[in-house]
Amino acid sequence: MSIAIAIDGPAGAGKSTIAKAAAKALGFIYVDTGAMYRALGLFALRNIIEPDDKDSVKELLKRAEVSLARNEKGEQLVILNGEDVSSLIRTEQVSMAASKISAIPEVRAFLLSLQRDMAKTYDVIMDGRDIGTVVLPDAKVKIFLTASAEIRARRRYDELIAKGENVVYEDVLADVIKRDDNDMNRPIAPLKPAEDSILVDTSELTLQESIDLLINTIEVNSK
Ligand code: C5P
Repeated sequence: MSIAIAIDGPAGAGKSTIAKAAAKALGFIYVDTGAMYRALGLFALRNIIEPDDKDSVKELLKRAEVSLARNEKGEQLVILNGEDVSSLIRTEQVSMAASKISAIPEVRAFLLSLQRDMAKTYDVIMDGRDIGTVVLPDAKVKIFLTASAEIRARRRYDELIAKGENVVYEDVLADVIKRDDNDMNRPIAPLKPAEDSILVDTSELTLQESIDLLINTIEVNSK
């Protein structure tokens, strides 16, 4: 039987960087479910469809094929209709589109089986918003990874600036707050800690301290 670790939390809590490092250290496959929603968000933008226009998005799903692959370093790639879109999905515009499109129940159902199949096949650390509550309710360890909105916005801002994007901190903070609001208040699979999850707050921690804490939390609780 494969082992699954669920990691949920708000945008910019460092989930992907921290979970990826923990997966490497512990020998798990890291699955970033946000990338799948981002791929569909990108597909909507490319087709000039509003990501919250339910009927148009439902039509779009008939033409969408999303899958995950690995590069030679073992990193996750997200494939949309045969094209590797892994780097194209990391913009603020796609973040917002992903957040909107993910509120559509048909979109969530579309991606659910893909996510569950990954966990059946491999030992996974899966990160998202509803992994502990909906996707993998029987996960061995459930972690809710968070940090204050200001700290998350600051980290996101630094990342975007380092990538050469022209952004303003206040706009990034507003986007973080807007995405939290979308994710926490949608009727289907809202972002919330599973009842049996362990809260890990990284506001006051460095990246390395966060990784060490996550690894330790997983090790102690998966015995
Ligand atoms: O994790 P990431 O920021 O890449 O996710 C992009 C968006 O996809 C989130 O804002 C959220 O709305 C959505 N998402 C989701 N459920 C997941 C993962 C991501 O609704 N399991």
